[in-house]
Amino acid sequence: MPTIHTVTGTCTPEDLGFTLIHEHLTAGFPGWEFDNAGFDRPGEMAQIVDKLKEIKDLGVTSVVDPCPMELGRDPEFTLEAAEKSGVQIIMATGLYNEALGIPPHFRSLDADAIAEVYERELTEGMNRTGIKPGIIKTATGGIPGMTETATDIAPCEETCLRAAARAHKATGAPILCHNDELGPLGRQTLDVFEEEGVDFNSVLIGHACGVGDMRYYFDILERGAWIGFDRFGIETIASDKMRLASLIGLLAVGFDRIMLSHDHVGCWLGRVSDDWQKFMDACPNWSYSHIMKNILPQLSKAGVSEGTIRTMTVDNPRSYFGG
Ligand SMILES: [Zn+2]
Repeated sequence: MPTIHTVTGTCTPEDLGFTLIHEHLTAGFPGWEFDNAGFDRPGEMAQIVDKLKEIKDLGVTSVVDPCPMELGRDPEFTLEAAEKSGVQIIMATGLYNEALGIPPHFRSLDADAIAEVYERELTEGMNRTGIKPGIIKTATGGIPGMTETATDIAPCEETCLRAAARAHKATGAPILCHNDELGPLGRQTLDVFEEEGVDFNSVLIGHACGVGDMRYYFDILERGAWIGFDRFGIETIASDKMRLASLIGLLAVGFDRIMLSHDHVGCWLGRVSDDWQKFMDACPNWSYSHIMKNILPQLSKAGVSEGTIRTMTVDNPRSYFGG
């Protein structure tokens, strides 16, 4: 049975239970730490713990926080929040996309060198804390509203994909992929992993729910990878109605290798720009609890069985982590 590293220790895939596969406790774009707008750690901790306790009461036992290493990842903050809330949290090693991440230090390294960085984190811990990540994050494309739409995987992103594949093969940690919804590069991501000999049962192509393209979903699911319907509530990118229509349609024809989440950020680091604030204000349901409160009841109403909901929220995360 594989061992999963959560921030509070190890568990097995059987111990995961109801899992939100993609949420963030902290996030900030590179450079936020030089912004004297500051970070009220005790205040942020209190509100994050409240939010985690709320979802624990709604039945959530585990949360995957796939924050890349350069986007405000904070192992010690996350450990304290996990201990205080009682929710198991799994963090990530790995780098973000070329448009907004991958600091210069990494841009001149080859895939084997970056893989070694990831493997060290997976076996020794993040930021010299000894707290180990349990998954590997990759990213392609940009972010809707913040960057141009990408038409292909950028060179540094491809290097990081190959590094992720090699670190996965060395450690067994699964790979979780950010693929921008506009011009999504999930297929090309799988092509790189295929060249690297990765078993697609360990690959989650994220942010698929905002794509709304059945051909994209079929292409990825038929190759054996998982897809993330992991941005419920971000209605500035796609309405929940569209996400639900795609999800219910896929389930109706027998595709259920799907995992659910919100990609919510509990604590933004540094000041928030006016545009970004407007983006978030237009998403009143974007939270850690929206799926349990509003989306699962809508799935039930549409005839999706309790068993299928359990498949997406419990059995699929377990299988993805090797259980
Ligand atoms: Zn995310």
